[in-house]
Amino acid sequence: ASGSTLLRDPRYNKGLAFTENERDAHYLRGLLPPAVFTQDLQEKRMMHSLRQYEVPLHRYTALMDLQERNERLFYRLLIDHVEELLPVVYTPTVGEACQKYGSIYRRPQGLYISLKEKGKILEVLKNWPEKSIQVIVVTDGERILGLGDLGCQGMGIPVGKLSLYTALGGVRPSACLPITIDVGTNNETLLNDEFYIGLKQKRAIGKEYEELLEEFMSAVKQNYGEKVLVQFEDFANHNAFTLLEKYSSSHLVFNDDIQGTASVVLAGLIASLKLIGGTLADHTFLFLGAGEAGTGIADLIALEISKQTKAPVEETRKKIWLVDSKGLIVGSRLESLQHFKKPWAHEHEPVKGLLDAVKAIKPTVLIGTSGVGKTFTKEVVEAMASNNEKPLIFALSNPTSQSECTAEEAYTWSKGRAIFASGSPFDPVEYEGKVFAPGQGNNAYIFPGLGLGLIMSGAIRVRVEMLLAASEALAAQVSQENYDKGLIYPPFTNIRKISAHIAANVATKAYELGLASHLPRPKDLVKYAERCMYSPGYRSYR
Ligand code: NAP
Ligand code: MN
Repeated sequence: ASGSTLLRDPRYNKGLAFTENERDAHYLRGLLPPAVFTQDLQEKRMMHSLRQYEVPLHRYTALMDLQERNERLFYRLLIDHVEELLPVVYTPTVGEACQKYGSIYRRPQGLYISLKEKGKILEVLKNWPEKSIQVIVVTDGERILGLGDLGCQGMGIPVGKLSLYTALGGVRPSACLPITIDVGTNNETLLNDEFYIGLKQKRAIGKEYEELLEEFMSAVKQNYGEKVLVQFEDFANHNAFTLLEKYSSSHLVFNDDIQGTASVVLAGLIASLKLIGGTLADHTFLFLGAGEAGTGIADLIALEISKQTKAPVEETRKKIWLVDSKGLIVGSRLESLQHFKKPWAHEHEPVKGLLDAVKAIKPTVLIGTSGVGKTFTKEVVEAMASNNEKPLIFALSNPTSQSECTAEEAYTWSKGRAIFASGSPFDPVEYEGKVFAPGQGNNAYIFPGLGLGLIMSGAIRVRVEMLLAASEALAAQVSQENYDKGLIYPPFTNIRKISAHIAANVATKAYELGLASHLPRPKDLVKYAERCMYSPGYRSYR
């Protein structure tokens, strides 16, 4: 290939890292300044320049430019600086990027499938240059993070998630396909924005929506086979549960908002038992918010307890209670409840507010998944602390402004007794001379490793046993040293190793359940996972 072609292709370009020999052999002389850099030096230079930006969004665009220019260097940065860069390519900055996607849009980073492509989706898939795809992350943009309907501009989410599949889970970049399905938007601001990049119409619903998704799902299977993983991301809950249910028996599908969240929170719960003793079955759980995250987590807890105690899940659900916008979910509301809430309608008199629910149910664990900030008030936290020696409090709503309470509030109001984890990161808090390190129940702990486990075993279906296996693997990665600091999640710095362990546990389940197609089964699955992982070092060109 000619020199300029090499420089222009982000998969091959290594910028100043082309060696003298490569510059001679590939007609690069003169196209580059004389200095030859190592990847380490390029990394140092790039990090230095990223840190100059004070506006997070500028850091985001600089990173996206790097991804489009030199893919391996981009992944090197992401892998070596996970904790620093995760908030840029992922929540919260990716949220702002989606809101402004119309004006920062440069190149298509994924595939757009709109109502205009109805009847031709298979052809559209064939237009994507890469042929062997292992993971698709797809959104319809209706519920982007806690930011609502961003329509076609939701593309930032699948792009960001897939870069984490590569950086944290080691899936090859060329095997990742971000997709946005555009069925319109109900966001008036976008509809009136001359720079909006999507279809300017109200969202299609009902039959029109279902048919487009049906065509999409069958085209995906036809084009990529049965082993391609489809991750549904940031769909509104009125579609999310239905889609997951509909396609989980015919496709390899996973919903991160429902199942990934559940798995990461369950891991945190399992780990916190090390700090407070007892088993999951000893606890009573109360949720504020009964949507994708809340009922997803509740389901997985009930299943894990049932697995541990051999009690039927109809029994184990009875110690799990949920509050939605209308109050405690109880038997008398059964008729009017959405189907995913029905299993949680236990017999109890109606209760309106969260504080009264805490007083009535006396939970040992309180989990916030309502998307509404400041709802774990002083009274609520104090009630938790008066009922429990060490109350477990998870404030999961994102972004930070929506958190049910801050880490500082949780520790102060409970007089330093709460075990606290949140969805958005909080800095450690000092209370009465002691430092408390809050946990972050970030989905990025689970989905990359889970995906790798599915891919490397050639799994053809996702089963709840695999989610439990992922949770257990993550909890097992919390070290004594972490516990001593009050941490219930391991630090992100070791995420590739953590992902390999999660992948191995998930693959083990896939083999046990007869759902793995990659045969024979590798002996040491952790080693195998590590060997499968993409690594971003440069290749040499002769
Ligand atoms: P969702 O499906 O829309 O569910 C929201 C639930 O909250 C609904 O049940 C809703 O009640 C309830 N709710 C809303 N306002 C309320 C209020 N004032 N009082 C009591 N309940 C209220 O949303 P989701 O996907 O579950 O996400 C919820 C939040 O969790 C978001 O902020 C998201 O960022 C966060 N989340 C965090 C993580 C993580 O940290 N790992 C993962 C996923 C999601 P109705 O059903 O009555 O409308
Ligand atoms: Mn999501």
